[in-house]
Amino acid sequence: MYLLFIDESGHKDKAQNFTLGGIAVFEGLITPLRQGVDSLMREHFPAEPQQPFHASELYSLAADPNTPHFTRSHYRKLTNDLTQLILHHAAAYNAPGIVLFGQIIEKNLVVDPYLEAFEGIVARFNQFLITRHHAQDPQKGLVVVATSAQKRHASLRINYRNYRIQGTRLGNIHNLPLIPLFAEANATRLLQLADLVAYALQRYYEHKDAHYIDPLWSAFFQENGRFTGLYHRTAQYRTCTCPACLTRRR
Ligand SMILES: [Zn+2]
Repeated sequence: MYLLFIDESGHKDKAQNFTLGGIAVFEGLITPLRQGVDSLMREHFPAEPQQPFHASELYSLAADPNTPHFTRSHYRKLTNDLTQLILHHAAAYNAPGIVLFGQIIEKNLVVDPYLEAFEGIVARFNQFLITRHHAQDPQKGLVVVATSAQKRHASLRINYRNYRIQGTRLGNIHNLPLIPLFAEANATRLLQLADLVAYALQRYYEHKDAHYIDPLWSAFFQENGRFTGLYHRTAQYRTCTCPACLTRRR
């Protein structure tokens, strides 16, 4: 089984883009990944080893002159270490151990960016599971969402049921037999990695800062040179040079 952990970025503030980041993890890698994040957080915060990783909050902490033990360079080191942890486990497995997903939606183009992004990421995760079937490795999937989305719990459940009955715009989702689970991001290291993916995407699409996402592109779900796991809904889709738009135009 693969578990897809999803977190969001850009919802509350005045950002032009809403982003969902997802990290799909093979069940056997959940414990080593969790231990890896635990170990890195202990290294960076020895006095508070249980400290959750939240990219934007720690970015603010790093800018605070009253926290000399955690500066911008500490922040870059920590995000880089977490990125390397993802890449290490993504590569160190016969089948894909970790696959990344992302949905970036220009908010002014749709009524409900969250639901549009959620439908897209779930359908693309299902598409990834179909590729496992074709590779003689049938796997089911389970979606885990941060409780920050809990206020949308009812609409997510209704929409998810409709995806199962009527299919999504990208097809049915037969490989995802259960409704999404909600989990506390503070207590779930894997959701904190999804937060890093969402943050890295948002830095790139909203702020033209590729520092965090560049090393991660290779881990996104791709088929025949296309970034199937990544979707960018933009009015500039004909000229945008992001990997999703660029490879879709080929
Ligand atoms: Zn694009």
